[in-house]
Amino acid sequence: MVSQMRKLSPRISSALFLIIIAIFTTLHMNDTKRKLHFFVCGFPAHGHTNPTLGVVRNLIDLGYQVTYCSKEEFRESIEKNGAHFFAYSSKSLDSLVSSKVPSPDVHKVLLKSALEILPTLLPLNDQRKFDAVIYDSAAALWGQVLGDVWKCPSFYSNTPFLFTPEDTVEYMSEFMPNVDEEYLHNRALMKEKYNLSLQSDSVFDINNFSRATRIIVYVSPELQPNSEKFQGEKYIYLGNRFDNAPQPSTTRLEAGSTIYISLGTVFNENLNLLKTLIKVLSKTKYKVIVSVGKNDDIYKHLLPFQTGSNIDIYKFVDQLDVLNKASLFITHGGMNSIYEGLYLGVPMIVIPQMQEQRFNAYRIKELNAGLLLEAKQISEADIESALKKIAVKWDDYKKESLRLRATFLSSDNNKQVAKKIENIVKNFT
Ligand code: UDP
Repeated sequence: MVSQMRKLSPRISSALFLIIIAIFTTLHMNDTKRKLHFFVCGFPAHGHTNPTLGVVRNLIDLGYQVTYCSKEEFRESIEKNGAHFFAYSSKSLDSLVSSKVPSPDVHKVLLKSALEILPTLLPLNDQRKFDAVIYDSAAALWGQVLGDVWKCPSFYSNTPFLFTPEDTVEYMSEFMPNVDEEYLHNRALMKEKYNLSLQSDSVFDINNFSRATRIIVYVSPELQPNSEKFQGEKYIYLGNRFDNAPQPSTTRLEAGSTIYISLGTVFNENLNLLKTLIKVLSKTKYKVIVSVGKNDDIYKHLLPFQTGSNIDIYKFVDQLDVLNKASLFITHGGMNSIYEGLYLGVPMIVIPQMQEQRFNAYRIKELNAGLLLEAKQISEADIESALKKIAVKWDDYKKESLRLRATFLSSDNNKQVAKKIENIVKNFT
């Protein structure tokens, strides 16, 4: 080759030399880019996983690798978005996610699951250098330990609203920790083995994670309560979650229009409430779609109500698609459901099933985007009255939903957040 090049004129050989250098540089640059490898620590619930997948997809589109660890149930949706799936195992976490009622033991269990998961994950970096860790808040608090030990930037990914410690005391007493011997033991072990010390008893206190490089929240600042307390470069607001920008629903609330009911996928065991809703709505002229969020027991109990009525009951639906055709969303107030309801411009009746959802519902009420219906036992009369009230104020709720949708559309999208993350990781020293 060299002797052949010598035979060429000096002009041609120097041009060839430049081309070879250019090819080598491009290959080298791509190689450097390919080397960025993100490690995502997930919490196995739809509401925690769905919002993160857009950023994952966009990091991959930028040419990077993503390894996403979660439970087997989420493999398909994670792999569909281009990430490598890695399954972790934790008996404590399994029992937590299969429980249908919120428990004050959640703090203890999250610490225990960290102790179970970390020994498997920590050595992963021996084979492959990870450049950043994105972890699901206190729900995957072991992610902060990985970031610390691997000495890379850590992103605290927060799928609900951000809470101040005062909010936790005021609205989330259900989540105040049960500080018993086992809790104290787990907390001490986390400190001793992994240098993760909690500043307060509640694992959910965001101050426990002040070491995180950035905090990502999946709403616009206009929707986040008290957003003035969560400002500055530390916070990344990913308010514009959907790359395909689904259009808002255009149907009014009138005879023949669709009402969609869902209590989400976690604390969705309230058979009495669903039966009462179905009983009232089967006497109306609305078309009603009910999702039981993959709860087989509830599905079995409700199915007999479907025969010959205006009610359709599904195990699981494409929620965005249903909302796009709906005029009213009767929801438990899960963070993703209220976000999706607002994005699709659908007024809501929020019937919270636990305190975090109550906090979300207060926000919807405060912003005048829907009605909060709260009672220990919700009667048929309560539902009839809520339906009447919502019909009167439906236009106002619709207008506010569309205003909030506009704030989502002008907030950062997945691509912009992926670029921000890329920038931070590249400049991390
Ligand atoms: N979901 C869905 N189909 C269903 C029920 C729920 O796709 O039939 C999705 C919904 O779109 C949302 C998530 O599951 O993204 C539920 O999250 P949310 O935070 O509202 O409630 P959770 O299930 O965590 O209580």
